[in-house]
This record gives sequence, C-alpha cells and structure tokens, in this order.
Amino acid sequence: MEKIQAIRGTKDILPENIYQWHFLFDKFNEISNRFNYTEIRTPIFEKTEVFHRSIGEATDIVNKEMYTFTDKGGESVTLRPEATAALVRSIIQNSLNHESPILRLWYFGPFFRYERPQKGRLRQFHQYGAELIGSPNPEADIEIILLAIELIKSIGINGYTLLINSLGNEQSRANYRIALIDYLKNNSENLSTESRTRLEVNPLRVLDSKDENDLKVLENAPAIIDSLDSESRTHFDMVLKGLEEIGINFEISNKLVRGLDYYSHTVFEFRSNYLGSQDSFGGGGRYDGLFEQLGGKATPAVGFAFGIERLLLILEQIGGLPINNQHIDYYFILQKSDYYNYAQNIANKLRQLGKSVVVEILRRSFKAQMREANKIAARFAAIVGESEFLESTITLKNLNDSAQQTMSVEAFLNSLK
Ligand code: AMP
Repeated sequence: MEKIQAIRGTKDILPENIYQWHFLFDKFNEISNRFNYTEIRTPIFEKTEVFHRSIGEATDIVNKEMYTFTDKGGESVTLRPEATAALVRSIIQNSLNHESPILRLWYFGPFFRYERPQKGRLRQFHQYGAELIGSPNPEADIEIILLAIELIKSIGINGYTLLINSLGNEQSRANYRIALIDYLKNNSENLSTESRTRLEVNPLRVLDSKDENDLKVLENAPAIIDSLDSESRTHFDMVLKGLEEIGINFEISNKLVRGLDYYSHTVFEFRSNYLGSQDSFGGGGRYDGLFEQLGGKATPAVGFAFGIERLLLILEQIGGLPINNQHIDYYFILQKSDYYNYAQNIANKLRQLGKSVVVEILRRSFKAQMREANKIAARFAAIVGESEFLESTITLKNLNDSAQQTMSVEAFLNSLK
C-alpha cells in the first residue's frame, strides 16, 4: 500500500530533535518565572469569531490564511493562527484580571496558518509568547521588550536587530491613515497591483511591501511618527528613553506596522540575518483596544511572540544548538531470557534511585546485546548470567574502561542510596 505523507507545511519533531524543544521550553519557562510570568494554555481551536473580531477582516491572516471549518454541530471553528486574541477571550471569560490589576502570562504551543510553505514558514508552527495585561504606561512596553531580550539571550542568540515604531493612539492612527491614503492615491500609478488592492482594504499594509517600485514610492511617503499626537509621542519617547537607559539596542523603523488590526502605540519586531527572506523571528506590540473588541472592559495590554522554528534555524546557523545530554546508565544483558524478571526487578529499583536503565527484550545473543549496550553508549553493562541469578548478584562492566566487578544486588543498591 502507498505510504501516507504528512500534510504539506507540517513537520514531525523527531525523537532526535526533541531535546532542542525541551531546551527552549525549559529556558523560556525559567526566564518567564524570573519576570513573574505564569504559563497559560488555551485550546488550539476557538470560535471563528474570536479571530474575526480581533485580527481584522482585511488582514492576510483572516482573509486567506485561517484553517476554518464547520464542526458537526454547525459551528464555525478555527485552528488558532495566533494566541493573543484567544488569551484575551480566556482572560475575559475566566475573569483572570479581576483579582489583581496586572496579569503576566506566557504560552508555548502550535499555531496554524495556510501560508505557502518555505524555509522558516510552515502551516503548523510554534510560538512562545508573553502578554502583560493592565498597564497603559511605557513601563509595561519596556518590561515586555526586556523580557523578550532576556529570552533570546538565554538561548545564546546575540546578533539580531530590534526594530521599533509607534502607531500611536486611535486618533493618531486615523490621521495617519488619511495622510497615507492621500499620498498613495496620488502615486498609485507607480504602485504594484497588490499594493493598489491593499490601499483599498488595508492601506497601512502597503508599508510592508517588498516590491521595488513600491519601495520607491514609499521613500517619500509620510511617516507615521509625524502623525502622532502629543500623548502618543510622549508614550513613544518614554519607551525609547527606557530602552536606551537600560542598554537595549534598537532601530526606529517608520515603516514597521505589523499585520494585525489590533495594535496601537508601540510595535516591534526582531529580525535576523540568518533567516533569509523570512527574517522576522518575533514581534509584538501594544493592543489597548482588543479587550473591548472581544466584549471585555477596556484594558491596556502589550505582548509579543517568537517563532520557535525560526529560533532553532538561527541556533543551527550559529552552531548554537544544545547538545543532547540524555544518557543510559545501565543496559541489562541477559545470558538467558529466563532472567528477565530478575533483571527488570533490579532495573526498576535503579530507576527509583534516579538511574536510567534499559533491559534487553529481543532475546539476542550475548555478543549482540553487548554491541547494543555500546551502541547506545550505556555507562555500564549490567550482566545477569546463571551465577548472578542464583546468588542474587550482578556483574557490572564499565563500558568506558572495561573494568568489571561482581557484587550482591543488595550491596550494589545500597551503594547508590
Ligand atoms: P506574527 O504573529 O505573524 O507576528 O508572528 C510572530 C512570529 O511567529 C514570527 O516572527 C515568526 O517567527 C513566527 N511565525 C509566524 N508565522 C509563521 C509561519 N507560518 N511559520 C513559521 N513561523 C511563523
């Protein structure tokens, strides 16, 4: 029969690589804890409305990338394309922010977007993200960016660019939209077809274009920073000042808008030269209007997400992937399969003492078992022959230096306590 392949754009995380994922998860857990962020896990699918009402109808995600289907009960559901909207749904539903004015959360898990697969772009990918809920102040923006930087540092990535921009408050954004539309309309004959379409549905996204002609037009486009009102300007200046004084390097990018509708004020993105065309490995921003959009009470918030696959690609490029330090302490070699229960009994006592132990289950020849023990790089071969079985002893062979000794099982176990 024909073999079945995985769905395009999805990837198995194989046993030989899983430790890399544990490494990232453990580091991120540890650093998040140091900043007093707590993990939250929400379902991987939500009512489609959660994303329609938050991300924005005119965005690429909602327009063409969502895995949406009708379930057997006739409900439209969507595999989550991102986490923030779902987290806000959960916070509102569970009243998570009623106890304390500030909530600090992080998450790690799979996300789904129907994009054209390529290096660093999958249809099922993974993100770590963090959200800081409850403060409208620049202090929160600074904290969340600092957290992002400490996470990257903790896994050994040092070379990257942090881009930052401000979209300002609603009024500033509205002013900018008008100025931008005006400018782009006047230059529309030089824009790509895609940008002309975007101009109609989501004009800010034209700034994301990589088309050469578009870039020429954009050179003289009005900068969003010039449309910021004084409140928005002050907020942005305080964020920049904070980053500077804490020693965080950044570049202001007046073209950075990020794709989603719900951002306001600060937006930022991390880019790496090691990634090729998909060079962003993380990004985020402030989303003060999102709680209301999802039926909650107005709540300021700021957050970001990293793409795990892209972090691993960077680590691979810089030779920074962690080393797998899993090892086997004892491989039990049985002269006869009749000694299996005897061996497994001792093996399990060793496991209870914290050792990793494997017992032969293929009834192989003594030589083949010894080969196996060496192949999996066990520290010791624990040999059970007739005399060991009859006398409650065990023979241990150190596979490093081949030194061998026989002792009573009791003495052996006691020596490990
Ligand atoms: P976004 O929610 O689009 O800002 O994405 C945040 C991060 O998630 C990006 O910077 C990427 O690192 C990662 N990411 C987004 N989409 C994909 C994808 N289709 N495949 C792999 N990583 C992705």
